[in-house]
Amino acid sequence: MIIAITCVIAIVVLVFVLGVRPKDLPAPEPVSPFVHLDERKAAIYENLRDLQFEYRLGKLSDNDYQLTKKDLQKELAAVLAEVDKVKLTLQSGRPPAPAPAPAAKAKAPAPVAAGNHTCPHCNATFEQDLKFCGECGKPMKAVRA
Ligand SMILES: [Zn+2]
Repeated sequence: MIIAITCVIAIVVLVFVLGVRPKDLPAPEPVSPFVHLDERKAAIYENLRDLQFEYRLGKLSDNDYQLTKKDLQKELAAVLAEVDKVKLTLQSGRPPAPAPAPAAKAKAPAPVAAGNHTCPHCNATFEQDLKFCGECGKPMKAVRA
């Protein structure tokens, strides 16, 4: 659902941007499968613009204009549908992310050897003589009364 909404929003934004000022903006960095679709889309928008321009100049009859416009819009819809399809294929066909390698446990089992300092409270062992336990924070030396 969210993916669908995102797609729709992206397309709407794209259509808006391209439709408003197709030439003023640098082409967005296309992802490989979309390159040719983007190009086709841009070409169609360009044609639509030219068509409108010529129509306004009176070079085209109303009928010609409407027919050509319809053709271009149909073509555009097809391209957009194809973009959608490619997007969906990419999203559903994407292989699952490889399971993260089991993070090596940072805690290497400390061999209990002579000379280790063991916390009397939690039994954590440290190689250095610590005043306070690094695990539980209590004084390492048992307080003798
Ligand atoms: Zn402790």
